[in-house]
Amino acid sequence: MWNALKRCNMKIYGNHNLIRTLETMTERDRTAHTVLFYGENGTGKKTIAEYYIHLLMCNDKKDGKPCFNCKACHNISDNIHPDVITAEKSGKLGGYSVETVKKICSDVFIRPNNSDKKVYIFKDCNNMDERSQNTLLKIIEEPPEYAYFIFTAESKSAFLPTVLSRCVSFGTSPCTDEECILALSEHGISRNQAENAVECFHGNIGKCIDFNENENLKEIIDTVRLATDSLIKKDEYSFACNISKSAKNRDEIETVLTMLDRIAGDSVKLNYDKNASLSGCYKDGAERLSEMLTLNSGNRIHEIIEKCWRAVSANVNASLALSAMCGEIFEII
Ligand SMILES: [Zn+2]
Repeated sequence: MWNALKRCNMKIYGNHNLIRTLETMTERDRTAHTVLFYGENGTGKKTIAEYYIHLLMCNDKKDGKPCFNCKACHNISDNIHPDVITAEKSGKLGGYSVETVKKICSDVFIRPNNSDKKVYIFKDCNNMDERSQNTLLKIIEEPPEYAYFIFTAESKSAFLPTVLSRCVSFGTSPCTDEECILALSEHGISRNQAENAVECFHGNIGKCIDFNENENLKEIIDTVRLATDSLIKKDEYSFACNISKSAKNRDEIETVLTMLDRIAGDSVKLNYDKNASLSGCYKDGAERLSEMLTLNSGNRIHEIIEKCWRAVSANVNASLALSAMCGEIFEII
């Protein structure tokens, strides 16, 4: 999503209060030197981080907003600003090594090149190990006046409490369905395709774009819907086949389990309120499932799915974990 502001004609959808807070902070010259943007993937963390960097470095702000037109703004959008440094990821899980962090800790004492600020951005800090964080701590405790650090992560829990206490943290959230459709149309996606995507991922712009571009994700969603139909028909064999079909690797298993969990959650909500706002990818399925599930059985399914994901995360054999999950779900419906 880097450069997303440029592609989207510099519009940001959703997260209005967060944007306003960042603008006010900058207007009052109270910019936070260490900032964490956290939230579900696809909800705009990197786009907002980019906006914050524009706010910090734009030379021609208007009404508290970056101009997106000065040299600094252009350089940030083109990813070539010499004083905006993206930390390099390493390792299988895409974490940040102690060496990388040490390099940044010494680089930070070299004054900015052609502005009065220097910004370091660490994207997707979901797997930053403790040693790297402890190394980082030394510099974020007392950074030079011109230095800024920006982190993005799915959850605050990725960080040590000592690091968190030095950050100003901002949560990002999905926008409304209508805003998401507008954002997707700016992205060149037709209304019809945008509606299909929003039906699955609601106001999560990043996930909706991914859905539109990624055939594999579309197949996974179709399979999860088929699995839900099997659940409603109480056809355990077909349910298990559908679940295992689309869960070929860890990422796919996570998507399948998340989608299934959301459908179950939606069906519980619908039990209480027919107009409840839903988060899953299969409204019709959730409606039919709601006739079969009580609050208790719905919560139980949620626990079973969570238990399965914990097992897969702990490297238990995935097909065993999935088939155990299918068996347990069918014991309670
Ligand atoms: Zn500017």
